Amino acid sequence: MPSRPIQILIVATHPADTFDMAGGTLSHHAAQGDKVTAVIATTGVRSHHWELAEMKRQEGASLDVEKFVEQAAAEKLEEVRNACRIMGYDDVRDLGFEDDDILVTQDKIEAIAEVIREVRPDIMISHHPYESGGLKMHGTIGQSTIYAWQVAAGTGRGRQLRHAVPCIYFMNPMAYMGNNSLEYASTARADLYVDITDVIDKKVKALDYISSQFYGGPYSRKRSEVDDGTYGNKVNVAYAEQFQRFFPLKCYTLPITDAELEQIDQSPEVGMGRRSEIVGAFTPLPPNMEFSSKYRTPKEKYNL
Ligand SMILES: [Zn+2]
Repeated sequence: MPSRPIQILIVATHPADTFDMAGGTLSHHAAQGDKVTAVIATTGVRSHHWELAEMKRQEGASLDVEKFVEQAAAEKLEEVRNACRIMGYDDVRDLGFEDDDILVTQDKIEAIAEVIREVRPDIMISHHPYESGGLKMHGTIGQSTIYAWQVAAGTGRGRQLRHAVPCIYFMNPMAYMGNNSLEYASTARADLYVDITDVIDKKVKALDYISSQFYGGPYSRKRSEVDDGTYGNKVNVAYAEQFQRFFPLKCYTLPITDAELEQIDQSPEVGMGRRSEIVGAFTPLPPNMEFSSKYRTPKEKYNL
């Protein structure tokens, strides 16, 4: 552990990205007295507000979505503030870019650099710049964040402060690998896992708040199993979050934890038992929600 509390800045593309990839890890930091600032780059409305998307599906060109965008953005922000509060941090700021404003642009870079200069983070977290082959919004904000690091580390203009962030992590670097052929050209790899088993129930409850994109209830529990549960299974714990360092780790000696040392003499029962916790079994669904098989695709629909 460092000799003083640290400041972490997470630069998220969409509102839920503030906690649904690295939130368990950030929860650990908040609990030990570190400060967490979450920046939301885009409103997430045009890509992730399913109620509005459903209205558009039903009404087609007769629906002018602009009437609803401001209200929908406020709803999503409120959901995420509640979710982050559960994870233990409440400094949540939105930059207000549109989530279909897809390019890496100087104004996005400057906006992120401005937050870096103000917050002066010790650790910065964002998306892998080549996520989805670097072509989707996560990649745009990941790239913008790296450029913003470079801009903020310079002398700036006029009376701007400078701040060089010493440590950067990409969150969930492998989550989107394999969804399109360009992703295989990426340098994404997970080289660090954080065991979040002790806070996975919080993460499920935080996801329950994200009702505008139907994350609450059954999906929240399923999502925790298939994402955090899969990562956990890779490193012999129940739930984990994965990261990739941007700069290599610098140490005086080679790092190893007591958790790794204990594996030497661990019985298989302990190892398998530790991986086998299922948070859905211990975290009740919100009222009026239930697990259901009624949305399955019938086999006839797969006829070629
Ligand atoms: Zn996102």
